[in-house]
Amino acid sequence: MNTLASYAVTTTKGRLHNEDPPKYRSEFQRDRDRIIHSTAFRRLEYKTQVFINHEGDLFRTRLTHSLEVAQVGRSVANALNINVDLVEAICLAHDLGHTPFGHIGQDELNSCMHKACGEGFEHNLQSLRIVDKLEERYADFDGLNLTFETREGILKHCSLKTAKTLGDLGTRFLKGTEPSLEAQLANIADELAYNFHDVDDGLRSGIITLEQLREVSIIDEQLTSLHKKYPNLDGRRLHKELVRHLINMTIYSLIESTTDNLKKCNIEIPDDVYKADPIVAYSESMVSQQKELKKFLHKNLYKHSSVMQLRFKSANIIRGLFDAFVSDESILPEAYQKKVSVQGLHRVVADYISGMTDRYAYRQYNRLFTVENI
Ligand code: MG
Repeated sequence: MNTLASYAVTTTKGRLHNEDPPKYRSEFQRDRDRIIHSTAFRRLEYKTQVFINHEGDLFRTRLTHSLEVAQVGRSVANALNINVDLVEAICLAHDLGHTPFGHIGQDELNSCMHKACGEGFEHNLQSLRIVDKLEERYADFDGLNLTFETREGILKHCSLKTAKTLGDLGTRFLKGTEPSLEAQLANIADELAYNFHDVDDGLRSGIITLEQLREVSIIDEQLTSLHKKYPNLDGRRLHKELVRHLINMTIYSLIESTTDNLKKCNIEIPDDVYKADPIVAYSESMVSQQKELKKFLHKNLYKHSSVMQLRFKSANIIRGLFDAFVSDESILPEAYQKKVSVQGLHRVVADYISGMTDRYAYRQYNRLFTVENI
């Protein structure tokens, strides 16, 4: 801990509720531990990343995605000598607010909330709401009472209107400044992890092929060099070697471009980071390579008819549940009914639905709408 770089975050601005400092852990280790023990974290195991949760046991879920983001984050943080514990805490918490059924779940809930009450639903803000308010496990406060720095990292973006309601946490959006290096890293580690694990899962599912992937230059280069080194390698082992190499070379590239940026911008202390352009960033050529890959995945994986069919079904479930609970609050679980007078019906319904795992949402939907279950 005491050998961290001068631009690393080493102390906290504090927590929403005062607590004694931890005895044998750092403040950020305490945050990480609280996140791991939370209910929202365990729910991630049964929430979809891209492939619907029950489609296959080996596809990523929100939980394994979050663990991979934390692994990428830790690797880069170690190399840059910044605060690994803070990076890990942010990475593990970054998707706590995700709905069931991946992005389609969030988009549908967002549209339901807009139509019903003019408010939206955004998973980033929901992650913050979970750690600040919704977890119920401490005698002295709601939420997990995390440090400012972890909360700052969780809130990757928000509207100016929302920023005005968030006190200290909203200031950077109003002033247009950047967050800590640790927060910047967690953000880019998320993207790095999902781009490559989506390639991995896409190949595994058979929806995309290695031949198709050759149209992405970064992948074509890696495949050519792998073929040269291992002429007889094919099948699953080639696919796994490819993904491993892609992750490695992108992490190396990120470490190198960030080290350059730290020097170029004369970053010495955390305050320098807030005022500068993003420091934890890819080189220009890596940015365009990543864009090319994203475009490929969008066209060939995320929009593939088998993925779209499940999305269609998932959107119907979210909408059906939302309309049902809003039309008759007496079918909400009692613990949620009790919150309606304080938080408003729509927000309570959004909290309830977004907290569901995929299979819990299916079960609730069947319970309410399927005749055979009676
Ligand atoms: Mg994520």
